[in-house]
Amino acid sequence: MIELKGIFKSYQAGHLQIPVLKNIHLTIDEGEYVAIMGPSGSGKSTLMNIIGCLDRPSEGTYFLNGRDVFKEDDTGLAAVRNRTIGFVFQQFQLLPRMDAQKNVELPLVYAGVSKAERKKRALEALRRVGLEDRKSHRPSELSGGQQQRVAIARALVTQPLVLLADEPTGALDSHSSGIVLDLFDELHQEGRTVVLITHDPEVAERAQRQLIIRDGELIADQVRAGGKRR
Ligand code: ADP
Ligand code: MG
Repeated sequence: MIELKGIFKSYQAGHLQIPVLKNIHLTIDEGEYVAIMGPSGSGKSTLMNIIGCLDRPSEGTYFLNGRDVFKEDDTGLAAVRNRTIGFVFQQFQLLPRMDAQKNVELPLVYAGVSKAERKKRALEALRRVGLEDRKSHRPSELSGGQQQRVAIARALVTQPLVLLADEPTGALDSHSSGIVLDLFDELHQEGRTVVLITHDPEVAERAQRQLIIRDGELIADQVRAGGKRR
């Protein structure tokens, strides 16, 4: 489903080009739960932004669900992104003035879904993460773990092909982290494709397959002992 070939990415710093991703080849199948692990500054977020169609590489191709996505113009790329990817970020990125339900509805507003349908789907997604009873709470009235679960509901509400999470437990205490990671396990068991980015080996252990990135290169790709690649 995800197929990256020969991906390079450099950033411009003055008149220098700083290489950040160096010749990444990566295939992820539907239904896999993959962790991308590596130290701070190794290029994880840069790779996530490319997988998530938020940014373009300097070189290389990306087939997502059979489509050559970087052949698209920016509008086309945004459309692919909105239809295909659900994002979860370290800092949740919920809108503070909206309650949980309105936050979860937001991607559906952009997709032009009717109000009644938005409500139905948002409540369904909140139920999925165990927070239907918090639908009228604003982010500031929720714990960090609950905010992240609202963010996961928002990511799921469009029924994305891929759930892409960048350090989703990075701002959470260990109890809330555990709840969020259990939720990812369940979503994987339900057949979802999950790509989790983390610098924390213990978090990466939860995935079924671990990739290690160092200095912009994938240096290891291993299936967890006892885990199965589907
Ligand atoms: P990670 O998520 O693994 O910590 P990043 O992908 O965020 O790593 O960053 C990898 C490298 O690219 C770092 O050296 C970082 O400073 C640099 N970098 C990231 N984003 C930019 C940017 N927009 N402009 C310039 N350099 C960047
Ligand atoms: Mg990062």
